[in-house]
Amino acid sequence: MTAARAIIHVDMDAFYAAIEVLDHPQWRGLPLVVGELGPRSVVTTASYEARRYGLRSAMPTVTAKRLCPQALFVPIRMSRYREISAEVFAVFGEVTPEIEGLSLDEAFLDVTRSLRLFGGEMENIGRFLKQEIRRRTGLVASVGMAHNKLLAKLASELSKPDGFLQIRPGQVHAMLDPLPVGRLWTVGKVAEAQLHRLGIRTVGELRFADPRRLHQACGNQAGQWQRLASGVDERAVDADAAEKSVSAETTFVTDLTCLEQAESWLARLGERVGERLRAHELRGRTVTVKLRKPPFETHTRQLRLGEPTDSTAELLQAGRSLLRRWWESEQNPQLRLLGIGMSQFAPEQQAGLFTPTSGGKDQLADQINRRFGGGSLVRGVVLKSRRGETGEK
Ligand SMILES: [Mg+2]
Repeated sequence: MTAARAIIHVDMDAFYAAIEVLDHPQWRGLPLVVGELGPRSVVTTASYEARRYGLRSAMPTVTAKRLCPQALFVPIRMSRYREISAEVFAVFGEVTPEIEGLSLDEAFLDVTRSLRLFGGEMENIGRFLKQEIRRRTGLVASVGMAHNKLLAKLASELSKPDGFLQIRPGQVHAMLDPLPVGRLWTVGKVAEAQLHRLGIRTVGELRFADPRRLHQACGNQAGQWQRLASGVDERAVDADAAEKSVSAETTFVTDLTCLEQAESWLARLGERVGERLRAHELRGRTVTVKLRKPPFETHTRQLRLGEPTDSTAELLQAGRSLLRRWWESEQNPQLRLLGIGMSQFAPEQQAGLFTPTSGGKDQLADQINRRFGGGSLVRGVVLKSRRGETGEK
């Protein structure tokens, strides 16, 4: 039996269409299709207004036009969608490095080891994700929470648009049983037809079906289906190691024009990153500082360390030197956004064996912060310039 996990599935609502509306407010409320009208083109995303007419992704645009003649067809702007996607994934990176991206707008997050940083409640993390994504991109995300991937994805699907749902262990059968079998992950069209022939139409009927009869009719996959029908799913969140990072960033209400203030913010963000690194038992080798000049010009600067570390002090030392170098290279330095992150993690079996840990000081700070709420213990530089703060937006 594996320990209980906490999994979140995040899926942006009508992502490409929502970005088009964000950038063209005059299109709000219209049936909108991302994908140009043409004999061979298909609908990439339809706005919710367009879905009311039966428009769906992958439908030929010609069909879409017939169903909804007044729909607005707009060209795909993939580089813009990637830009916003990076913002959304940056929010994920503030919660956990264990992110399995499924597409530009959808991911599984394993937040098991982040729970204690959020008061032990998965809902706090889900709410943080929803609010931060909204605040930074202006877009709406649906969030599903559960103890495995199957149920987390189901929770976001069942509650979207603007979804927010946690399926708790005691609610699994009540949620799953009435669903059509075709809704289950890995049960495709052929399998669905097979099950229908056996008189099995709902997930509940599949769960209670005679295993031997099911195996005879459907083969080895039957056992897996019955486990899924019972809400059992042991798949791990498969984070791409190359893309793993832990980061924190903040946007300023008023652009920062003073290096000392920027350094004090960097220290505060670095504390958060260090705390998460240690919670996830990760030591990273590459420190990245993200700097955005108004209105939207983003620079990143990286430094590779000699040894992987989870120490806040070492992270900040590298971050501060990157920040200073950037600041001095700018003619008129101004910051709208500042972020710091750690990536390129050492393989877990090596951590602890060959690298000295950052020691008791950071661990004590983490304990105090957990006990009295994040930010009660901040390094000197932050306290010194508290008065000059601009406040997080
Ligand atoms: Mg989506």
